[in-house]
Amino acid sequence: MKYCNECKRHVEPVKSKWSWKWFFLLALTLVGWIFYTMNHFIFKKEDRCPYCDKDQLSKLSPEERADRKRKRERRLEKRAEETGKEAEEITGNTSITFDPEAEKLLQEAGAAFEDGDTEKAVKLIDKAIKIYDEDEEVFEVFPAFKKKARYLYQSGRNDEAWELYNNLYHMCEPHRSLMGQLFEEKGKMLIFEEKPLVALREMVMAKIYFDWTYLDQGREEEIDYEWTENELFEKLAEKAARETRWEEARGILVEAYDDLENLAFADVNLKVKKALR
Ligand SMILES: [Zn+2]
Repeated sequence: MKYCNECKRHVEPVKSKWSWKWFFLLALTLVGWIFYTMNHFIFKKEDRCPYCDKDQLSKLSPEERADRKRKRERRLEKRAEETGKEAEEITGNTSITFDPEAEKLLQEAGAAFEDGDTEKAVKLIDKAIKIYDEDEEVFEVFPAFKKKARYLYQSGRNDEAWELYNNLYHMCEPHRSLMGQLFEEKGKMLIFEEKPLVALREMVMAKIYFDWTYLDQGREEEIDYEWTENELFEKLAEKAARETRWEEARGILVEAYDDLENLAFADVNLKVKKALR
């Protein structure tokens, strides 16, 4: 079932109507009618409203979308209260136990960075990182790496931050929530560098990985299938002067979300990249 935005009701999508006019017009070209017929019966997708024949269909009605958004916000608020953690960390593993000594070092690093001593801050973070076993305690050590990269690019050492992100790829790859965070961090850095177009692409990848995490955790109702709840995407598109192209990219993503679990990541990203070019 889909929602027709023209008729304002739920409908079962059908193929666009068979047109005798086109059939006979194309018959004049001798072979055109063959392609028309083949296209109608084999390739045409069921993407039309059976009542108005328009393709203004979406997965959810505005009411359902608003309802999902409300529920999601309530849940996020509740969880944030319970754990006192940032929303972005909620999608991560909940059974993380941080080492108190490493935590203390990270706090000291924060103070050093505030004092403008990036060098000292980075050294303290490196010390904290060494406390953890990078192969076993990836969820514990990842926030420290995140902090290190942020300090690096915020003090103008962008190349080092990029290198760090690239090195983290292998560590994050087996864990979808960490991949989401990695792309998100890269996106934040690109926003900081005022590169909205590339930032937008990284944020798209982050959302896909975060939504896969939701699927893994059986929290499907928290997924925004329409890509409209987070204003960040539109804002970045606007900054990059790609508003219409973002709508095109969003269409590609919404369609790919029909089968989110089997979404072809590389393929979809290439399409999105092309749409936003
Ligand atoms: Zn309709």
